[in-house]
Amino acid sequence: MRETVKSSALLHWYDRNARVLPWRVAPADRLAGVRPDPYHVWLSEIMLQQTTVVTVKSYFLRFLQRWPTIGDLAAAKDANVMAEWAGLGYYARARNLLKCARVVNETHAGMFPTAEKELLKLPGIGPYTAAAIGAIAFDRPTTVLDGNVERVMARLHRVSDPLPGAKETLREHAARLTPEKRSGDYAQAVMDLGATVCTPRNPVCGFCPWREGCLGHKEGDAQSFPRKTPKKTKPIRFGVAYVVIRQDGAVLLERRPDKGLLGGMLGWPGSDWAETPVEPCPPADVNWQELGEEVRHTFTHFHLRLTVRVAQTTDQTPLNSGVFLERNNFRPADLPTVMRKVWSLAQSAIEAD
Ligand code: SF4
Repeated sequence: MRETVKSSALLHWYDRNARVLPWRVAPADRLAGVRPDPYHVWLSEIMLQQTTVVTVKSYFLRFLQRWPTIGDLAAAKDANVMAEWAGLGYYARARNLLKCARVVNETHAGMFPTAEKELLKLPGIGPYTAAAIGAIAFDRPTTVLDGNVERVMARLHRVSDPLPGAKETLREHAARLTPEKRSGDYAQAVMDLGATVCTPRNPVCGFCPWREGCLGHKEGDAQSFPRKTPKKTKPIRFGVAYVVIRQDGAVLLERRPDKGLLGGMLGWPGSDWAETPVEPCPPADVNWQELGEEVRHTFTHFHLRLTVRVAQTTDQTPLNSGVFLERNNFRPADLPTVMRKVWSLAQSAIEAD
């Protein structure tokens, strides 16, 4: 099948309209021979999985300031990296980030491999990320297919099969368009087109370099693509979180197991999160005050409703679980978002008391 649009038209558009992003080398600089640092490309791509550009910018800059090279990151303490990642969500990414930095540092002398199949062997790097690093960092003509690219391809060709089933068709279209030269700029150009012009709700086709060949635009129904299989409604899970404050202000926390949701992150002791309310073993046998309001948080696969119980204790109170952290060392920003919500609810209840 012949493509109805050309990569050269998109590259021409990108040269004038590329977004300025802290991890990106501008097209004019790339054309002048400046290469992006693979460490920056990899770090940004891992952070951008399931997360918006706006959110990632400040995290990316903070990480680079603290760990300017992959060697610095590989030598970092796990707890510091998890704390710096707090709030970005999908915490398995942070654990794999560290594993990957250490493998690249120890096995590849701190240099990312350039071939997609070698990149795929690294922790936390799946097909999308391997393709993106291959293209952006090393100018390889890989096929990069993220949500933006899928949307653009589905509209260009009016692909009527719904996602996720249509992925392979969309990948074939994307592969046919990928040029041998300037592959890195091209990969970023399609992403930019999807993010700024061919947007989910209101594509601004008047500014699109591909509008002449776009079937969705021609038929006037671009916005209805990509078609999607209706999502199942998310189940609700219930749990209990305990906030214990010692008389000197120290707070009781526990590190969650490495495997599973929020793995390796600090959190409040509490129950498992189950589809029916559970009565857990509390971290101390004291008088608990149950707050009238609950914490609500939505994860990818379920909504969570957390009952919050608070108590004040002395340093003589025997504990069933958890470890006290001195108040000076406690930074709510080190907690994942759901745990921060628990803290702010508990704090306002304690202050109101
Ligand atoms: Fe998207 Fe419109 Fe461009 Fe088609 S013409 S790719 S629908 S922005």
